[in-house]
Amino acid sequence: MNKSKETMTAIVKTAIGPDSISVMDWPRPVPKSGQVIVEVHGAGVCGTDLHIANDAYPTVPPVVMGHEVAGVVVEVGEAVDKKWIGVRVACETHHQVCRCDFCRDGRRNLCKNKTSMGSFVDGGFAAYVAVAEELLHPIPNTITDHEAALTEPLACVCHLLLDPALINVADKVLVTGPGPMGLLAAQVARAAGGIVTISGLEKDTVRLDVAQHLGFSVSSSPEAESFDVVIECSGSEGGIGVALKSARRGARYIAVGIVGHDVKMSVDVILYKELLLTSGFASTPHSWNRALKLLENGSVRLAPLISRVEPLGNWPVVFKDLKNADVLKIVFDPRI
Ligand SMILES: [Zn+2]
Ligand SMILES: [Zn+2]
Repeated sequence: MNKSKETMTAIVKTAIGPDSISVMDWPRPVPKSGQVIVEVHGAGVCGTDLHIANDAYPTVPPVVMGHEVAGVVVEVGEAVDKKWIGVRVACETHHQVCRCDFCRDGRRNLCKNKTSMGSFVDGGFAAYVAVAEELLHPIPNTITDHEAALTEPLACVCHLLLDPALINVADKVLVTGPGPMGLLAAQVARAAGGIVTISGLEKDTVRLDVAQHLGFSVSSSPEAESFDVVIECSGSEGGIGVALKSARRGARYIAVGIVGHDVKMSVDVILYKELLLTSGFASTPHSWNRALKLLENGSVRLAPLISRVEPLGNWPVVFKDLKNADVLKIVFDPRI
């Protein structure tokens, strides 16, 4: 076997600590029993990847990063149906699930033994990735490979908003933070019947323009005590404050944005307003099915959220730019 068959280019979190990410030659994966090899066509870069870079999210290095993955199955391992070869797929992230109560209940996202792609096992910032057959979802023809990479964050949003259902028809919904998660949450809330406003800061002009292009009302100072549901997607103390203030009495508050550190927030407001404060972590098989149906019927549009498609080698500028409010989602395509 020649060298090019044995190795591939990958973005690797090499160790815990600063300057611990590099693009390097990495062994090309070989499928174990029950696994397939996906040739990666799109891998979304997410806030979690920035947290991984700063050691603010747990990892077991060295590990190939990337958990928002879509591509084509090019090889199958033992005990896997050959029908998968050539199928375009997006991949769930929770490997090596067990027989704990959560796994048996379809809530693998809460399993203590799960090992997620891109942090505990090799992920999709590479030309190829090994994935268990049970984690594959065929993607509809109506969406591109690059859009399909965003199925994972969309599935997370579906889990957060719809399981259990937190939005009723004609609910006034405020989304704080017009980043990728905010624009996905707004679209899912609208599909569930909500009347959605998105709030942001002055620096968010580009993102708020996309929100308007998607048909949402935008506001820099949403009215106090006027929303039935507030969805906090900024992951910032300021955004949390706006969400708490804008919630009407008896409202539902859904925490979506990861802050990454402790912040001040008034617990008394939750009490006085009788807020239902809820959240959710990652995705479940059920939320993936919902996400794919929303994509197939056009309720959620992903193309406006993709700012750029980049080769793996450009990761330093990609990671730097993602901290910038002019950018929404950047997708790596290892083939370019
Ligand atoms: Zn993510
Ligand atoms: Zn488990």
